[in-house]
Amino acid sequence: MKAILYAVPGHQGWEWKYSLDIRADMRYWLEQWGERAHIRLLEPSLSFGQAARLMELLNCSRVRHNDEISLLKKMKELAHEAEIPAPWIEQMTLRDVPCKLIGPQLAPSEFVVMVQSLEGRSLLLEEFAQLTEYVKLGSVAADPLYYIQYAFLHGYLRVSSGFKTVQKRNWPLFMKRTEHTCRRCGSGGDNLFTTDCIFCGCPCSYCESCMQMGRVRFCSPMISSIATVNGQGAVQPNGLDGFITPWGLSDVQAEASKEALHFLLNAYAKNSPEPQRFLIWAVTGAGKTEMIFPMIAFVLSRGGKVLVTTPRKDVVLELQPRLKRAFPHTKVVTLYGGSEERWERGQLTIATTHQLMRFAEAFDLVIIDEIDAFPYHNNPMLEFAASKAVKPGGAYLFLSATPPEPLQKAVRRHQLPCARVPARFHRHPLPVPKIIYTEPLNRLILKNNIPQAIKQIIQISMDRGAQLFVFVPKINMVEPFIGMLRSGFPGITVEGTSSKDENRADKVVQFRQTQTRILVTTTILERGVTIPKSDVLILGADAPLFDSAALVQMSGRAGRSKDDPAGTVYFAVREKTSSVMGAIRQIRDMNKLALRKGFLHKS
Ligand SMILES: [Zn+2]
Ligand SMILES: [Zn+2]
Repeated sequence: MKAILYAVPGHQGWEWKYSLDIRADMRYWLEQWGERAHIRLLEPSLSFGQAARLMELLNCSRVRHNDEISLLKKMKELAHEAEIPAPWIEQMTLRDVPCKLIGPQLAPSEFVVMVQSLEGRSLLLEEFAQLTEYVKLGSVAADPLYYIQYAFLHGYLRVSSGFKTVQKRNWPLFMKRTEHTCRRCGSGGDNLFTTDCIFCGCPCSYCESCMQMGRVRFCSPMISSIATVNGQGAVQPNGLDGFITPWGLSDVQAEASKEALHFLLNAYAKNSPEPQRFLIWAVTGAGKTEMIFPMIAFVLSRGGKVLVTTPRKDVVLELQPRLKRAFPHTKVVTLYGGSEERWERGQLTIATTHQLMRFAEAFDLVIIDEIDAFPYHNNPMLEFAASKAVKPGGAYLFLSATPPEPLQKAVRRHQLPCARVPARFHRHPLPVPKIIYTEPLNRLILKNNIPQAIKQIIQISMDRGAQLFVFVPKINMVEPFIGMLRSGFPGITVEGTSSKDENRADKVVQFRQTQTRILVTTTILERGVTIPKSDVLILGADAPLFDSAALVQMSGRAGRSKDDPAGTVYFAVREKTSSVMGAIRQIRDMNKLALRKGFLHKS
């Protein structure tokens, strides 16, 4: 096999690299250096074994790059030492080329499974092809060197030539002498034979000792996993980008994912018996499901097991298809009360909180979605279940738009590392709630009359073709307000639902399908239901039942889509309470942070 040798400018001068597929290198260096990325290409391409040898010599010699003529001269000297055939040395030239994105998109899930499947293996290219066929990695099979080279650059696997070269000095004249040994079986000397090789086009030796397993040549790439400790590969921090870029995250999302990946890397390196914890504090509509893909991929690629847990079954059912699509080659098991996959084991498990009780030291990473809705408060059993589900040396990742006060306090005291995601994926600020004053809701119900100010707000939403969430603090207020809104807005479909409503699922579907324009509801729908073009009206926002977190969540229903990012949010109150002001402050603070970090569209 032939390989290309090239140099890249690094922090300590130029560094030489070999490549089996230069498109992967260009992609990699573009990711590292951006558009200014360029490489210094050595032509022609060489036999892989010789290229690897020459690369070592070049990197050891610290040859200077500022004078091209002397550089080329020195290169040719070293090329002789690397036993490169003379005609090739004659042709050697150097050329600076800018990096271009010429390779195909990488299939992220296949990339992960490829790294995963290689764990503990060391394979020739033919064997690698059989493996990719066995695990059905179509894109990798179509472009194996591209994937291998990209993973190699990121430090997920090792690519080396079939033989190891050692330099020895002969006694007593100290003549330099190179010795080769087979990287697979360790044989050398008389067991290596040289023939003309059709793969690299020059005389090339092969190992006879292990030939029954397939021929190892000097020019054969050996693809091996990085040495693992406790089944966990040693990934370099600069290799983390490879887990992020394939998912096409926004820079806002990517930044948080990267922080979380660094945390995971450190947590696993620490390997302390006490599990480590990390919080992603992401505003509503930030796209947090996509943000956890890199962490899942990272742990899976190390052969680890991941659990994603959330308190509500409907969220589990919503997550399942998305995670299955994202990781089509990973065994995904979904667990909730009454699910059929109860006793199955997967690499990736999605479960409701209660299912955790069936696990002990099972997962390397436990992701708890909506930690603030987690039924911890009066259920120590669940807290214990969650704490024993993680393996010793494992890690927790908490996700929340409104972390409970104890967690916020831990963040302030630097006891809980945290990444804030202050902007939505569409880069528009969160709608800041506006306050309007009304009489107490009970009195409005008694009068059976909606005040003019509220009517106007609703009319504006209807006129702009939006749908409207109307939140009320109590279940018994849903029906009266449905009646009042229906008579106030004839011709507009008004429905309502609450936790007591048996037909809740159907009504949510109708609302999603825009058959219902106005939905009167309680905090039961404060999260989960996303409507592209929607406004929010919270009646009695000052009611004691609404805390700041609930108000932030309900406000988060508006402006979710990039086509309608500026939905309106109104708090109808009799007085400003600390919860009301706290919610508005939280939303404003996140917008300010987003602006400061440059995460918002300029407008
Ligand atoms: Zn061998
Ligand atoms: Zn060869």
